[in-house]
Order: sequence, then C-alpha cells, then structure tokens
Amino acid sequence: MVNLAHSRRALDVQGGVEWISLKFHRVLMAQPASKTNPLDPALRDLLEKARQAAVRSYSPYSKFRVGAALRLTNGGIVTGTNVENVSYGLTICAERAALVRAVSEFGPEIRIAAVAVANLNGAASPPCGACRQVLAEFVLPEAPVVFPVTDGMRTMAFRDVLPLAFEMKLK
Ligand SMILES: [Zn+2]
Repeated sequence: MVNLAHSRRALDVQGGVEWISLKFHRVLMAQPASKTNPLDPALRDLLEKARQAAVRSYSPYSKFRVGAALRLTNGGIVTGTNVENVSYGLTICAERAALVRAVSEFGPEIRIAAVAVANLNGAASPPCGACRQVLAEFVLPEAPVVFPVTDGMRTMAFRDVLPLAFEMKLK
C-alpha cells in the first residue's frame, strides 16, 4: 500500500491521476465476477483430482504446489503437476505436464472438454500465458476452465481465458 500511495503521488505530479483512477475503478468493478462460482459436480470432481495431483508436486524452489486436471472429450481424465528444475527456466507447469501426458496416453487427436487447476498454497493460480497458448492447441473454445483466484474460484470459458491465441495462418 505504501508503494501504491507513492506511485499515486508520482502520477498526480505527472497529471496521470485520471488514468490511475480509471484503473482502480476497473479493478473494483471486476471484483464481483471473481467471487466463487457454484461448480457443477463434474467440475468439482475434476478440481479435486487437480488438488490430488498437486500433492505430488516437485517444487523444492518455489514451494508452490500446483495440480491440473483435464477432462477429455473421450471421457479420459488426465492430471499433471508442476515439475521444477534447478535452472528455474526449465520448470514445467501443471497444466502443460497434464497436456503432455494426455497426448502421450491418448494420442494427438485428443480434445479437452474441461480444465481444472488447484494449488495447495491457498493462492490464486490462473493458468500462465504459456499454458494458455499450449492448451489452445487442444481445448474446445467453450470448455470451462476453473482455477483459484484471490477470493475463491473462478470458472471461465477457455475462449475468454485466451481470447487471441496465436495461430499460424500463412497466406
Ligand atoms: Zn503455466
């Protein structure tokens, strides 16, 4: 808060107060949507499997234990957990670990019908940008994605989680 107040003053000096007010307003307006959504039983089960996967996390560096569960259109459910590496940059997230496992088990034709992400740290953990892009290759646009936010859980359609995925469409 101290830093925020400081930057607010700095922006006041630069005449940016309107911009930051608008930004605060948007944050406040966004809060109701981030409240806990009621989960349908299938999604709740998927979330529980994500939580169980998080127990197996290999995260000695961050201690951030994350699990992901994917429900495939073929009915299969595949989980993954984050696997860190001493080089940090080679760490793989739970979502991508699950996806790689799903393709390895079921082949390249899989489609993902639902995604659940959980962590054991009581923290927000929406899928990172890299995982969103990798999931986009296989996930249905309308697939629900459920993940922890600061004040509960949020469920969003994948198309809203990553509205402008990179696509290779050469002319
Ligand atoms: Zn990720």
